[in-house]
Amino acid sequence: MILGEVTGVNKEEQYVIASSADRRDVPIRYDYLILATGVSHSYFGHDEFAPFAPGLKTLADAVAVRNRVLQAFEQAEAEEDPSRHRDLLTFVLVGAGPTGVEMAGAIAVMVRTTLRSEFKRIDPRSARVILADMAPRVLGTFAESLSSLRKRDSSGWASS
Ligand SMILES: Cc1cc2nc3c(=O)[nH]c(=O)nc-3n(C[C@H](O)[C@H](O)[C@H](O)COP(=O)(O)OP(=O)(O)OC[C@H]3O[C@@H](n4cnc5c(N)ncnc54)[C@H](O)[C@@H]3O)c2cc1C
Repeated sequence: MILGEVTGVNKEEQYVIASSADRRDVPIRYDYLILATGVSHSYFGHDEFAPFAPGLKTLADAVAVRNRVLQAFEQAEAEEDPSRHRDLLTFVLVGAGPTGVEMAGAIAVMVRTTLRSEFKRIDPRSARVILADMAPRVLGTFAESLSSLRKRDSSGWASS
């Protein structure tokens, strides 16, 4: 295995060009080539969502999302007006596929465990997690039995 970035492919002469930390533009010959470079996230035609909804494909993305969630709690703790707490501690997830469901569960677990006793002014357990989807049920691409199971599991969350 080679740790490096493939920057080009020469189909006629059957080699890829790769660069690593210490070597640049190294040709690597192949007989058969499979490109399995993954995918990027999509906003389904709504690229204006990007500033509010970062991708979730890398560790850096995950840390950025977690920091935003934690910042919301810090902001609520600093807010003296209790009527603002509800807004600051409402998390809306758009898309009830596996990622949305998993993320909603992760926030619910976080508020009940890690954050439970970290604040004085706010009660993290009062946070609301709202999972929105245009389909009639969560996990729409899965069997209905699995969908109902997830819905039942989540009925105890601080959610709507
Ligand atoms: C938040 C989240 C949760 C998920 N949970 C699940 C789950 O529970 N169960 C499940 O089955 N699936 C889950 N998935 C989906 C799963 O991660 C993907 O379906 C799977 O990783 C796709 O595999 P892949 O090999 O096609 O791409 P990737 O896993 O993205 O791998 C592509 C690789 O190619 C490398 N690469 C890209 N460009 C280059 C280049 N130019 N040169 C060299 N290397 C390059 C990348 O660094 C990467 O290592 C989840 C995805 C996300 C985002």
